[in-house]
Amino acid sequence: MRLLILDIDQTIVHASQSKFLEREADFFIPHPFGDFLYYKRPYLDEFLSQVKDWFCLALWSSSDKYYVQQVKEHIFSDIPIEFAWDRSKCTYVKKNGIGIYEKPLQKLGKLHWSLSEVLIIDDTPEKLTNYPKNYLPIKSWYGNEEDNELIKMLEILKEYV
Ligand SMILES: [Mg+2]
Repeated sequence: MRLLILDIDQTIVHASQSKFLEREADFFIPHPFGDFLYYKRPYLDEFLSQVKDWFCLALWSSSDKYYVQQVKEHIFSDIPIEFAWDRSKCTYVKKNGIGIYEKPLQKLGKLHWSLSEVLIIDDTPEKLTNYPKNYLPIKSWYGNEEDNELIKMLEILKEYV
């Protein structure tokens, strides 16, 4: 079974400190400067219930550890995941004056994953420029309720099962 790594922000959820959709937020994460409201991307539950049978799953966000753990507890309470990595596993680089937290997939070797077994879905291609064979791009999601990128992604992922 391959390993499928999911980015968090704008890939599977979008967060804001104010309500931005008609419907209620899916969950809240307390924050010292005001709670964050979290909305799941459309079809996230359907997506996860399918991919959990196809792949080993993991999370890798360039946000902080507290946040990653909160998302893990809210979304993956019933879905086993291999690991939930945060910014501390990223590498900070400057490209054209812009700071980027790259996700160095070679770190997975420590967990005994070979790169040929690894896929990663992320809405920021700049974080994965060194891994064209592993990287599956997805459009950033900011709350469009008509979005069906996760359903389209299932069609792509089918080829790797
Ligand atoms: Mg993202």
